Amino acid sequence: MLTGKCNCGSVEYNADTDVSDVFVCHCSICRSLTGSGGIAVVIVKNTDFRWLKGQDSITYWSKPEHDWHANFCKVCGSSLPGKNDEHQMYIPVGTLTSGHENLKVAHNLYVASKASWQIIGDSGIQHPEGYGSKNA
Ligand SMILES: [Zn+2]
Ligand SMILES: [Zn+2]
Repeated sequence: MLTGKCNCGSVEYNADTDVSDVFVCHCSICRSLTGSGGIAVVIVKNTDFRWLKGQDSITYWSKPEHDWHANFCKVCGSSLPGKNDEHQMYIPVGTLTSGHENLKVAHNLYVASKASWQIIGDSGIQHPEGYGSKNA
């Protein structure tokens, strides 16, 4: 079971799952979202995910003419889980408060556009762009 919350505690969630693969996206949009080297997420089934409180404190931003979007807390700005596709949610793993002990970075995405200062030190597979992209 994964449980998590935003910094101010307005929003809490859990997910009844045993996923362990973490995906780190290094694209420029995710870097601006977090103000850091990117965002680390796990992907869980919609049916395994549950908001525990504070859904009315969630807002989101969609990049115009792009499929990128992110949920965040209206009060404190923390990144929050959101829709990955029709069947799955993504959970930003930095917001987890328990259940994260077995997580491991499995994939680094958009490595071709990572921050110049960032050195990727984990054992995750490095994809130059999206999942499954190949080096030219
Ligand atoms: Zn908050
Ligand atoms: Zn990204």
